[in-house]
Amino acid sequence: MKKPYNEIKLQIFPEIEHIIDIKRKIITLEKIAKIAKEQLQHAVITLGIQADGSDYLPDVIRELYWEYLDINVTWISESFGISLTELRKIAGKFSDKYKCRLCGKPLIAKSREALRTIMIAYSRRNKERGIDYTRACLTCPECQEQEEKEYEKEGARDEERRENRKDELKVMPYVQYLRSPEWKQIRNSQLANAGHRCQVCNRNGISLHVHHRTYERRGRENFKDLIVLCAECHALYHGKLVDK
Ligand SMILES: [Zn+2]
Ligand SMILES: [Zn+2]
Ligand SMILES: [Zn+2]
Repeated sequence: MKKPYNEIKLQIFPEIEHIIDIKRKIITLEKIAKIAKEQLQHAVITLGIQADGSDYLPDVIRELYWEYLDINVTWISESFGISLTELRKIAGKFSDKYKCRLCGKPLIAKSREALRTIMIAYSRRNKERGIDYTRACLTCPECQEQEEKEYEKEGARDEERRENRKDELKVMPYVQYLRSPEWKQIRNSQLANAGHRCQVCNRNGISLHVHHRTYERRGRENFKDLIVLCAECHALYHGKLVDK
């Protein structure tokens, strides 16, 4: 007969004892963390009393606000007897630690949330370089604007290059055009759009031609400028045109 699992589990699976042990440790640490958090809150209250009336009051508040993100803003405001709005006004901006990745000027955080974002980006930058998120968060607004302008300029240059190339495609000898990578791409997308079937007789699995109905937009052909035809229909097409 099989013995009940609970009676023999520790004998056959001794690792379970280890797991129970670790679980106990976690519970103990959580209790300690909770106590520490309460102590932290009390310490902030005590500091509030010590700093009352001091010339350094704003410095103390700024330090708590920016250097100890674990300390709740409501604890600070209650311990120092100031409203959250006043607290934020005293705390001001944080610009003491992180620098713009491009110009080296201090990065300015206007809120704890913004500071956290910068901190995360900073720690990630050291691990996984070149992430867009990281770049954006570690760039000052001026450099960000500059960078955007550069991207735009680069984009405009690319666009211009593409347009020039299309003008070139329009006037180059037709044979040369048919050999161009651009035509190959246009041809392939036309075939794909037509489902790799002759657009007249609907046959597939045979060799297909892409026929120009008009050369007006050569290099910039749209779907209606072209038609996918099998060899037979293509011959008919040209025959018809010739017969006309
Ligand atoms: Zn910068
Ligand atoms: Zn056909
Ligand atoms: Zn043709």
